[in-house]
Order: sequence, then structure tokens, then C-alpha cells
Amino acid sequence: MANEIFADICVIGGGSGGLLVAAGASQMGADVVLIEGDKMGGDCLNYGCVPSKSMIAAANAAHAIRSSDRFGIGAAEPDIAFQKVHDHVHGVIGAIAPLDSVERFEGLGVRVIQAKGKFVGPTSVQAGDTIVHAKRVVVSTGSHAGAPPIPGLGTVPYLTNETVFDLTEAPAHLLVIGGGPIGSELAQAHRRLGCDVTILDIAKTLSNDDPELAEVVRTRMLKEGVTIRQEIKILSIKKDGDGVSVNIRDDKEESVAGSDLLVAVGRVPNLEGLDLEAAGIAYDKRGIKVDDRLRTTNKKVFAIGDAAGSFRFTHVAGYHAGIVIRNILFRMPAKVDYSALPWVTYTDPELAHVGMTEVQARDKYGDIRVLRHPFAENDRAQAERQADGLAKIITTKKGVIVGASIVGLHAGELIQSWILPTQKKMKIGAIAGLIIPYPTLGEVNKRAAGSYYTPKIFSERMRTIVRFLLKFA
Ligand SMILES: Cc1cc2nc3c(=O)[nH]c(=O)nc-3n(C[C@H](O)[C@H](O)[C@H](O)COP(=O)(O)OP(=O)(O)OC[C@H]3O[C@@H](n4cnc5c(N)ncnc54)[C@H](O)[C@@H]3O)c2cc1C
Repeated sequence: MANEIFADICVIGGGSGGLLVAAGASQMGADVVLIEGDKMGGDCLNYGCVPSKSMIAAANAAHAIRSSDRFGIGAAEPDIAFQKVHDHVHGVIGAIAPLDSVERFEGLGVRVIQAKGKFVGPTSVQAGDTIVHAKRVVVSTGSHAGAPPIPGLGTVPYLTNETVFDLTEAPAHLLVIGGGPIGSELAQAHRRLGCDVTILDIAKTLSNDDPELAEVVRTRMLKEGVTIRQEIKILSIKKDGDGVSVNIRDDKEESVAGSDLLVAVGRVPNLEGLDLEAAGIAYDKRGIKVDDRLRTTNKKVFAIGDAAGSFRFTHVAGYHAGIVIRNILFRMPAKVDYSALPWVTYTDPELAHVGMTEVQARDKYGDIRVLRHPFAENDRAQAERQADGLAKIITTKKGVIVGASIVGLHAGELIQSWILPTQKKMKIGAIAGLIIPYPTLGEVNKRAAGSYYTPKIFSERMRTIVRFLLKFA
């Protein structure tokens, strides 16, 4: 017989979004039950952001040794112990894990149940032999790697983000299907860690970003020896000795062989086994359907993060958590607003974006301004010998900031300067008029902003006015 308990809020899924709801609501006095069916911390800590950024940090260290001769310091082929890289990656996970642990959450007053949850009623969830009856339920079950319908994929062993960080030996030749952010980050990291790497993509790599900026990343990856086969057809996959062979069609049909295969072609929401029908919750293959307050078709159940099918980032799951807490605890009709949503791809150079792309802005406003400043004209970027990069800022004709994209050294940090102006719809003069310390990469932002005025300031009309005024000086 099931053990029945009652709570204010039941959170299903203890990852980026669920943990923030549980911690926040509990500390504000709500009685919270958290159900987690696998590892606390979810994808981000265990199979996503944390291991990938830790691996990238190791890869960048290897690259620094290999490329130090640009500073007059003898470059060398780094001695990479892949097992130790693996240990470093898992050491970082281990260092962060206590913050997401059952012990910490129980210490905050959250009742944690370690089992898979499923709905058994509109606001009742069963996990193991416990049934939780809650006033409100939050579904934050995340997503997993999708498997594309390529003939033969099911017949070969392949890696996903859940297994690639467990490798203790470097793949001799890693084939990466999918050149989006996850595929590109892991492809470049493995290449820098000494593997041969081939990306296979049916579209262009990093196709969700500004094509001009994505090209800068692509060019760097090619220069570092990543093979990129893009805009191809992937026909089939088969085992090939100890490795795999992928049959593709580019201009002609050919086989690409590798030792290991990583599939990184998008995400599938974790909805299986949740019995959403029992709670009257509508969903489709993209995720649970939510309104702009993140309420599902059952108004007492909210869905957040990757399970809600919108933008799949940890910071979005965290943003969702805040919206849900305001709706549930304070009865505030807080709504999502993605108009100043940032994201970063942690390749080298980094590729970062906030707000509207050039195409979206043109569709909405017609006449827009695209302000640009290349890293090659930034003294700090030159000093660091990392001068490939470009900032592209999008404003309306009248100079209202609606979006920004940056590719280049520390683009993920530089984009932060554009989040507030995009969200507050500030005018470009606010950035152009700032005093920025010299020499910093941040001057790229100011110079891009300042270029809004260049055509007016250096116009013939302005010269006429200045000459006229100087007559009276
Ligand atoms: C390789 C990789 C790199 C990434 N890098 C970044 C990055 O740099 N920056 C960024 O912002 N985002 C990144 N992401 C995306 C980020 O990891 C996700 O967007 C984020 O983890 C989503 O949070 P969530 O709370 O929705 O889901 P998760 O954090 O995945 O948590 C979901 C939890 O629910 C649990 N669960 C599932 N079903 C049930 C059930 N029935 N019962 C109980 N528990 C259940 C799961 O076990 C899991 O712990 C990356 C993703 C990957 C794969």
C-alpha cells in the first residue's frame, strides 16, 4: 500500500530548473517535495554544461601549449593523459555536486524522494511507494539526446552527452553527427585533446547563429584540423571493424570511417513514463505545452526548462524557476519574456548572442542599422593575438538596441553588456557615450555602438557646419 503525503509544491526533476524552484520555495516557507529519478543536478551538472566546459578548459590548456609560439615562447605538442582529463572533468563535477545534493536540499527543508515520478491524478504524483498530493506541481524533467532516423544507427555503439565524458581513452577519430553548439564545442575540444575529428551535418554548422559570425568559428575549427562535412545527406551507418562507417552523399556518395561516433543532433524532452494524460497535461514532441506563465493545460501544474520545449539552456531553466515561484507563491501573473535572451557557444572563439538576429529585426522593423566592429581593430585582442572576431549590434533606424551578436575572444562575457540595453530597449548613445577602460575587449562594444553616428559625424554637412562655426572661434 502506497504511503500518501501532502505538500504545497511537488517538483518532478532535480536539475537546473527543479532545484531552484525547490530551494527558493522551501526557503520562502513552502512545504516542498522534490522527486529525482537519477542524479541530483540533472544534465547540466552531470552530462552537460559542467563536464563540457571542464573538458573545454583542458582542451584550451593543450591548445595554449601548442600555439604559444605566437608569443615567442616555444610551442610543443602537449603530453595529454586522457584518463587524467577525464579525472579533471569528474573532479569538477564532484566539486560542484554538494551544492545540488540530497543532503543540502534536505538541510533546506525539502523532502527529497529518489525515484521516478508519474502522475496518478491532476496534482498527485507517485514516486516509488509514495504518493504526493500537492497544491501545485512543477515538471522539470529536462531532455535527452535525440537519435536521428538514420538507417543503421541502432546497430552501432554510439556516444551521447551522457556517455562521452566517461571515456578514459582518447578516441582515435571521433565522428560527430550534428554541428550545433554541443557538437561544435565537443568537436573542437576533442581535436585540441589530440583526436582526429569529423563533423557531419545536414545543414551548416552553428546554423542557429548569425551565418557571418558562425563562419568565423568554422574557419578556426578547420584551421585547427577539424574536418567539417556540412550540407550533406547522411544515408546510413554501419559497423566497420572496431569502429563505424557513415555513408554520406555530398557531390557523390562516399563513406567516412571513424573509431567512435558521437550523436549531437538535438534534444528530446523527458516525458516518457510521466503519465501526463492522468493530469490532463497536453504535450507534443517539442515538450509540454505551456502558456506564458508556464502553466500547462492543467492550471495547477507548471512545466519549466527543457521539458517545456522552449530555449534549452540552464539559464532559461533558472529564469523559468523564478517565474513559477512568483506565480505559485505570490499569485503574481509573472510571464516569460524572451526578448533579451542571451546564449553562448563555448567554442574558441566564443559565439554569443542576445535578443533579435539581423534577420528577425529586418522582418519586424524593415529599416534597421547593423553596427559592426572587428576585433582586429581592438588593441587588446591584438595583444592577446586573438584578433579574429566581430561584434554586430542591431538597432532600429532610430538607434534603439534590439539585439547583438559577437564572435571572438571572451564573447560570452562581452555579450553581457548588451543584455540590459536590449531588455530596456535603450538607445545606442547610452553605450557609445560610456567611458571604457583601455585596453580592454569591451572597447569593441563601444566602438560598434559609436559607428551608429559615423555617417552623420563625418558627413559633408557636418564638415560644412564645423567650418562655419570655426569662423567665429
Ligand atoms: C553537452 C551539453 C552542454 C550544455 N552546455 C550548456 C551551457 O554551457 N549553458 C547552458 O545554459 N546550457 C547548456 N546545456 C543545456 C542545459 O544542460 C539544460 O538546458 C538544462 O540542464 C535544463 O535544465 P532542466 O532543469 O530543464 O533539466 P535537467 O537539468 O536535465 O534536469 C532534469 C532532471 O529531471 C530528472 N527526471 C527526468 N524524468 C524524471 C522523472 N520521471 N521523475 C523524476 N525525475 C526525473 C532527470 O534525472 C534530471 O535530473 C548543455 C547541454 C548539454 C547536453
